This record gives sequence, C-alpha cells and structure tokens, in this order.
Amino acid sequence: MAKYNPYDNFLAVLDQAAKSIGMREEDYVLIKYPERELKVSVPIRMDDGSIRVFEGYRVQHSTSRGPCKGGIRYHQDVNIDEVKALAAWMSFKCAVVNIPYGGAKGAIKVNPSTLSVSELERLTRRYTAMIFPILGPEKDIPAPDVGTNAQVMDWIMDTYSMTRGYTVHGVVTGKSLEVGGSLGRPEATGRGIMIVTLKMLEKNNISPKDVKISIQGMGNVGSTAAKLLYQKGCKIVAVADVSGGLYNPDGLDIPKIYKFVKAKNLLKDYTDNDARHVTNREVLTAPCDILIPAALENQITAEIASDLKCKIVIEAANGPTTVDADKILAERNITVLPDVLSNAGGVVVSYCEWVQNLQSLTWDENDVNNTLYKVMSRAFDDVYNKAKEHKLSYRIAAYAVAIERICTAKRKRGLFP
Ligand code: GLU
Repeated sequence: MAKYNPYDNFLAVLDQAAKSIGMREEDYVLIKYPERELKVSVPIRMDDGSIRVFEGYRVQHSTSRGPCKGGIRYHQDVNIDEVKALAAWMSFKCAVVNIPYGGAKGAIKVNPSTLSVSELERLTRRYTAMIFPILGPEKDIPAPDVGTNAQVMDWIMDTYSMTRGYTVHGVVTGKSLEVGGSLGRPEATGRGIMIVTLKMLEKNNISPKDVKISIQGMGNVGSTAAKLLYQKGCKIVAVADVSGGLYNPDGLDIPKIYKFVKAKNLLKDYTDNDARHVTNREVLTAPCDILIPAALENQITAEIASDLKCKIVIEAANGPTTVDADKILAERNITVLPDVLSNAGGVVVSYCEWVQNLQSLTWDENDVNNTLYKVMSRAFDDVYNKAKEHKLSYRIAAYAVAIERICTAKRKRGLFP
C-alpha cells in the first residue's frame, strides 16, 4: 500500500468534486498548487546552553478570496505534505463558510511538551521572525492548531509588533483576551461541531436525547464538543486521548472528565467505576450513532472504516478520513460531515477576532456566538442543498461549493500580469 500522503488525499477529493460539477481541469488547475511554500531552519539556545535547530514551515495555499488564514502546529511528526494539505484545507474551509480569506498553515517539527516554557517562547519568537516577511494582518494571519495555544499566539503578536515598532493585534488570532483576543474563541471549534451536529440531527428528525456519541481526542476541540453536546442531552459513550480511552454504553460523566482533562491529566489515570478503560481503536469502533474524530489526520483508515459501528461521522479533526476509507463508509451508508464544514467554527471566530482588532472594538460573547451560529448554519445549508441537488456526498458537496467560490473569485480578478 502506498504511504499515506495528505496532499494526495486533498488532490484526489479536489478532482472528484470538480468533475462532479462538470468543471474542466483548466478551470481549477491553479488551486492544485500552493501559491507559496516557505521552509525555515529555526535555531534556538536551549536552557542548558546548547543550540538546537528545528524545522519550520509556512505554506500559503491561496489568496484568491482574501488574506491567508490558518493555524500553526507544533508536532514532532509534521512534514511538508501535511502542511501543504492543511493549508489547502484552510482555503476550502474559509470558502465553505464564506469568510473573506484564503488558506495557509504553519508548523514546527517539535514535541512542545519536551521544551521548557522559555525554550518554547524563544522557538516561537525566532520562528515568527523568520516567517515575518510573509505575515501581516492584510497578508497572512496565523492562529492556534495542534500543540499551540493562546500564549504562543501572544508571543507571535508581540514579536511581530516589536519588529514593526507598534502593536499590531490583527496579525494573529486566538490570542489571550487581555491582548486583543475574542470572547468565545477558545470554545469556537467545539461549538461549531455542536451546531452542525444538531443541524444534522434536525434534518434526520432525531432528538439529541436519543443519540450516543463517541469522541476521539480530548484536546481543546474534542473536550469542548463533548461538554456542549452533553449539555444538549446527548449521551457521550466513549472518549479517547493519546493515552487511551474510556467507555460506558449508558453515557460517561462528561463534566467530571472535562474537569479532569482540563487539569492536564491523561485518561489512562482517570478512575471511575462507571467508566471502563478501552483502547483508542475501541473508541473509534464503539457502537454509537455519531463518531467524532477530533485528533489528527489519517485516523479512519480503510481498515478501521470496515469496522465502524456508527451511522454518522462528524469530522472535528482536519483530514481524519482517508480517501479509501471514505469509499468504504459510502458503501456502508455511513454519512460523513467533512472537516472543511464541521470544524470551521474556529476560523469563523478567528475572523470575528480579526474584525474586532481591525476596528479596535470588543464584542460581547453573545454577539460572537450568534455570528458563529449564523455563519455555520448557513454553510451547513449551502452544503446540504448542494448535496441534495447534485446527489453528492457531503464531502464532495462541500468541496464543490468551495471550488466554485474560489474559482469564481480567481476568474473575476483575472490572471496577473
Ligand atoms: N487551526 C484551526 C483550523 O484548522 C483554526 C485556524 C484559524 O483560526 O485561522 O481550522
């Protein structure tokens, strides 16, 4: 079997979606290639006085619909193909929810938990300095992703501002409230997952109270989705983090688990007689109505897909399902709500943050959450209607919506020079 390459995954779905709406290759060929790829070698002095050099990237996929937008990931396994795919998915995500951005992604190949706070700060500042020429509130606006958080964004904002000579809040989103962050941003991706899940249930005439959900990933996105869906009455029967999973067919005590993971504990150390310890695979294949993969790419492989026992997959991670797995899920009549729609809540509230920064305004949390709801439910309806109209899967429908929006913008702007 060929080695999994997320960018090939992206290209395969792109071709399929373009064909399904009758586009010719020449009409969308430009979006097969990222506009710009920057690789940097980031040297820092470690606490023990030695010097280490880390590999870093920033890939800008498209600027057709506006400045580039997308997170920065710190993870030991990142590579250029993953960053390229993540950047392209950002362009598609922003187009699906119709906010005026193109897509980008950055990464440093590092396990952040192995660095001290001051090493992490030096790494972040030096990386920011090295990608400085292509950043800016009108050019490319980073945000948190796997392995980064508000503190890392604050350092990026400060480094950029120090170099410019004045404070530039709008250069990065997902910041702390005190330095231009937005209310509602930390919960936004999980809240978006909750919104599309409820929309999906409504379309199928199912009450949240009758639904069992399994969630892989207890980071910011997975834990927030678990908390909010539990509050809506859903039973969360299985959850997993990097250390393993928990299972209870009658529903887990989510408020207790939420508190536990927020205190930076691992699920393997969780004790509760009502929760059985299970493997990550058992969480993915647990009997449930909805499976929410909220970890990394390449989790639902062809092999796992044959074994899933859910009816619906809501993709909270970026790229969790491989192309081969997608085919199997379709054959098995398992509905998939794709990442570029489901997990867009984060970038939607990033957009709210950026708009507040550019106008030097602060919105209250209700305004942010209402905007998120409006944007997510409109995007859901756009994808849902496209799928019904052309008899497409939701993934292909979401890509089709995005390709049309990106390519129309490109066509109207024309080709420079
Ligand atoms: N990293 C998040 C994502 O993959 C958020 C990106 C952003 O807010 O710019 O969607």
